[in-house]
Amino acid sequence: MNDTPNQEMQDLLAAYALGSLEADETAQVAAHLETCPACREELAAYEAVTDMLATAVPLTTPPPALKTRLMARTQTAVVPQPTRRQSIKENWQRWRSTYWRPALALVVLVLAVTALVIWQQNRPATPAQFTLTATEHAPEATGVITIAADGMATLTIANLPPLTAEQQYQLWLIRDGQRDSGAVFSVNADGSAQVTIQAARPFASYQAFGITIEPAGGSPGPTGERVLGFNL
Ligand SMILES: [Zn+2]
Repeated sequence: MNDTPNQEMQDLLAAYALGSLEADETAQVAAHLETCPACREELAAYEAVTDMLATAVPLTTPPPALKTRLMARTQTAVVPQPTRRQSIKENWQRWRSTYWRPALALVVLVLAVTALVIWQQNRPATPAQFTLTATEHAPEATGVITIAADGMATLTIANLPPLTAEQQYQLWLIRDGQRDSGAVFSVNADGSAQVTIQAARPFASYQAFGITIEPAGGSPGPTGERVLGFNL
């Protein structure tokens, strides 16, 4: 025999050391060992490793250096079974390397769809703003009605002339020729005002808006001059 046993003989020796050969193979290897010092030497190494594995592995994982030496010595013949923890870790690493891109793409897609749905639900009804037009009675005045996402309507006024204590401005919400009062308000010294509109009906059902000068406290219907207006 050669100084170094071939791979097949090494496998047989490793199995022999573990006592896992069939009876006839065991007899063959034993007969060969009688005549082959190289294989006897190899077997001694396997038996040393087998003894160490039998005592050391169930208790602790061998230090990396020892493990490397053992593995090199035994090649593939004696491979310690990975612990359950190692198997889970290796499976996870394999799974992650294969699927992390599709998984990431799925997460991004879900987030994008969620964002789109939220945006659609919160999008205010159009139009969200109505800009009123000034009349010759208050040519510098501006007025904007803003409908918030929650449906609350606000009137923002600038440059309306301040009135006497006996008068106030009144906002009219006009639908099919009928006028609902939306707000009665006074302006600040600089002619500005910010007023929450109280609409008797859904705001979208109105077709026009107007602001008139009325007696303080407001009127059941418009009686004074119109200073701002809007028609759809
Ligand atoms: Zn041999």
